[in-house]
Amino acid sequence: MSLHGPYDTDNIFAKILRREIPAAYIATSSRTVAFMDAFPQSKGHCLVVPKMASRNMLEMARKDLSAVTDQVQVISKAVQKAFNPDGIIVTQFNGAAAGQTVFHTHFHIIPRYTDTALAGHGEAKMADLAELKALAAQIREQMP
Ligand code: 5GP
Repeated sequence: MSLHGPYDTDNIFAKILRREIPAAYIATSSRTVAFMDAFPQSKGHCLVVPKMASRNMLEMARKDLSAVTDQVQVISKAVQKAFNPDGIIVTQFNGAAAGQTVFHTHFHIIPRYTDTALAGHGEAKMADLAELKALAAQIREQMP
C-alpha cells in the first residue's frame, strides 16, 4: 500500500464507523469517533478517527484534522484522569512504510506506565471486548 491510492470503504475502521463490527466506543463528536484499540499496546490504548473518509492525515480537510487533534487532547486528558499513567504517547502513521496497517486516518493514544513494558506496534494480543468496554466507560466518565 503506498501513501496515495483509493480509499477502501471496507477497511476495518470504516466498518467500525458504520457500526458493522463491534468496538469499545468511548465517544463521538460531530466529526470524530474514539474507541479502544483491539490489540492494546498498554492499558487504555485508544484511537481517535475522523468520520470523514481519508487514507491518511495528508488527505484530510483541515477542519476535520483540527477536530480530531482537539479530541485527541480531550481523550488524552480523560485517559490521564482514568488510569493515572506516567506518560502518554500520541502516534499517527501515514503509509505502510511508516507503519500504518489500517488505511483510515487515526491517532493512537497510548498510556505509558514506567513499571510495565510497552507491547510493540502490531505485536500486542487481542483484548477481550467486554474488558475494553469497561475501560472505555472509565475514560468516558472522565470526559467533560
Ligand atoms: P496502524 O498500524 O494503522 O497505525 O494502527 C491500526 C491499529 O488498529 C492497530 O493498533 C491495531 O491494533 C488496531 N486494530 C486492528 N484491527 C482492529 C479492530 O478490529 N478493532 C480495533 N478497535 N482496533 C483494531
